[in-house]
Amino acid sequence: MPPSHEAGWAHADGALKAPSWLRPPTDPNALVPTLWSSTAHKADGDLTIGGVAVADLVADFMTPAYVLDEADLRARARSFRDAFATFDVFYAGKAFLCTTVARWIQEEGLCLDVCSAGELTVALKAGFDPGRIGYHGNNKTYAELRRAVDAGVGRIIVDSFAEIERLTQITDDLKRSANVMVRVTAGVEAHTHEYIATAHEDQKFGFSITSGDAFRAVEQVRAAKRLELLGLHSHIGSQIFDSSGFEVAARRVLALHARVSEELGVTMPELDLGGGFGIAYTTQDDPSDPAQLATEMSKIVEHECKALGVDVPRLSIEPGRAIVGPSVCTVYTVGTVKPVTLDGGAVRTYVSVDGGMSDNIRTALYDADYSCTLANRESDAEPVLARVVGKHC
Ligand SMILES: *Cc1c(COP(=O)(O)O)cnc(C)c1O
Repeated sequence: MPPSHEAGWAHADGALKAPSWLRPPTDPNALVPTLWSSTAHKADGDLTIGGVAVADLVADFMTPAYVLDEADLRARARSFRDAFATFDVFYAGKAFLCTTVARWIQEEGLCLDVCSAGELTVALKAGFDPGRIGYHGNNKTYAELRRAVDAGVGRIIVDSFAEIERLTQITDDLKRSANVMVRVTAGVEAHTHEYIATAHEDQKFGFSITSGDAFRAVEQVRAAKRLELLGLHSHIGSQIFDSSGFEVAARRVLALHARVSEELGVTMPELDLGGGFGIAYTTQDDPSDPAQLATEMSKIVEHECKALGVDVPRLSIEPGRAIVGPSVCTVYTVGTVKPVTLDGGAVRTYVSVDGGMSDNIRTALYDADYSCTLANRESDAEPVLARVVGKHC
């Protein structure tokens, strides 16, 4: 069976004929808006981003080059900030982080998630308010935790009993307190439109709710004199286009939240629902906008809290790629173009560019699909079946 991205191609006289959805738009300069930053446009075949011609960028910086549109990233950060006005919005730095981006994120009023000593260093170097930083990870070392506590990081998302012990020791040694969230696994794993909900949690992150570990972690944090328990944290996956996975996870996490309140008499003030909001890589992807997400997620939580008879905690979310993804594109130079005859006589063209796994591992790692456009000339040629390939295996 041909891969899905070749579906619809028809053989005609030994040549492959493009399906109608792949035919050039009537306007050869048209860009599909969901795939590009908001300032990107094409005129006479020349792609311009943020008012700068991509051809000029290439003349200055060569290729491959990542182009990041500041106005677009700021606008996306702001739209999450505004749509989720009653939430705390943490930008998940692993999507893309450098000191400049950390600064923009802070200026737009968002908080920041880091998950390594390197990311924490970048954030602090950028002057990011440590009180607005969340520290994630399944393998935080003693030294990393000590540094996070020392720097006054706003929340540490604990991921194992060993880590709670380390953190207890560190806060006692330093005579400083630390705010803690307990990362739980709700048995929901979401990618794209589908999610899996099971009772088992065979994964490296978090404490299992069903096994009772999550409840015991809460008790252990409560027992530590200098650990302040903010609440529970759940992150279910990435490239999620449908809120039903969040709904199942929220139900399970809030049930634990209510159990803690009932059995321990502790009202945890916060709850984090993670990130993973899907973005468009091709015309097949249809992302939700932040306002729609905010409405759906608030409704889910309010409904569950009402059913459980608990107050709605202060909520936070952690969008990563939904803020930075569409703001970035990669620019390559086309080199070798090689036609290859397939079984049956049809021809596929291999278009080689001057990058590959070294600048974008996602295609090799996840079989991820992308879209591309010619950045420096107009073409009115018939579409051909082609693969854009990198330099590596
Ligand atoms: C990766 C990650 C995110 C962000 O995921 P996106 O798909 O980029 O939105 C949020 N929270 C945690 C804990 C993560 O690991």
